[in-house]
Amino acid sequence: MKKPALLWLNISVFSVTFLVAAIGTPLYIAMHGLSTGLVVAFFALFIWSGLSITGGYHRLWSHRTYDAHPIIRVIYALGGALSLQNSVLHWASDHREHHKHVDHIDHDPYSITRGFWFAHIGWMLREYHAHRYNDYSNVRDLQQDPIIAWQHKHYLVLTLLMNIGLPLVIGVMLGQIWGALLFAGFLRLVVSHHTTFFINSLAHIWGKRPYTERNSARDNGLLAFLTFGEGYHNFHHIFAGDYRNGIRWYQFDPTKWLIASMAWFGLARNLKRTNKYQVEKARLEMLWLKSQEKRPSFTERLEQEYENLMVSLRELNSRRRAWANAKRDALQDMAQVKELKAQYKSLKRSFREQKRNFRRQLLTT
Ligand SMILES: [Zn+2]
Ligand SMILES: [Zn+2]
Repeated sequence: MKKPALLWLNISVFSVTFLVAAIGTPLYIAMHGLSTGLVVAFFALFIWSGLSITGGYHRLWSHRTYDAHPIIRVIYALGGALSLQNSVLHWASDHREHHKHVDHIDHDPYSITRGFWFAHIGWMLREYHAHRYNDYSNVRDLQQDPIIAWQHKHYLVLTLLMNIGLPLVIGVMLGQIWGALLFAGFLRLVVSHHTTFFINSLAHIWGKRPYTERNSARDNGLLAFLTFGEGYHNFHHIFAGDYRNGIRWYQFDPTKWLIASMAWFGLARNLKRTNKYQVEKARLEMLWLKSQEKRPSFTERLEQEYENLMVSLRELNSRRRAWANAKRDALQDMAQVKELKAQYKSLKRSFREQKRNFRRQLLTT
């Protein structure tokens, strides 16, 4: 089959920025050394563009996991232009296709089924998706936002201002124009491009799948470290409506911390979290499935216990809901609320005990 036409603009942008960063920065350091100002400028712009993609393009706009104040949306829209990953509208449209058709060889725009290179960058180098390039039917909700419409309309000017104008201003302030263009411009752009692209490539190949094996997405702490928390991609693909990707307190997810802090200051609202019993259920189902594959005869003996555990989990969930409903319902008297709370707490304790025993049996034999 004939391959689609090459996209020379994209090829030039990726290769020129890469070559300038790879050759220019070591040469610059050899000739002028490296100042603190340039390091700070590199990280400041890297963090701004990175969080605009994760907190803005991804979790706010593609998945609508929370609402953000207009000031924050403008900061994200500018940071998105800085990251040079197309307009919010375009990015979110591709990303929603990715979730809807994940791993499908044609319909997933960056399908890992076509290999690492394709998912990482190859999908942007040819006209693979020309047929839906101007089709924004899956992001109509976003078209209502004037900030998104403004960014889409003026994308080219904004991206030039952010990627050349802003480093120039920083360069004049630092008295190191070439240094700022290299570090805050080229090097920052290349590093931020490829770390983001790792989510489409590496995060679908390398890591664990604790929540689901129905798609290729993986949880990977190292990738999370490089991408402001986006590396918990297995969790994200099953619970994409959650504003968090790393749900445990020790999981590195600065985007989640940013959103939670903004909520605290009144700049973000309606933060959506997955019901924790659904998360628990997915984990237990995966643990059970994997054990069944590895040691079928052994798990057969624990079949009944697994069933009981799932019954307890459902019971726990419904009791928690009853308690929460009662609390919300002003007509309920306090005594009943307390009673339901006590019932829930005691069920929770016994469920934990039951789960510990079950896991111990599965994992230690
Ligand atoms: Zn993905
Ligand atoms: Zn996503």
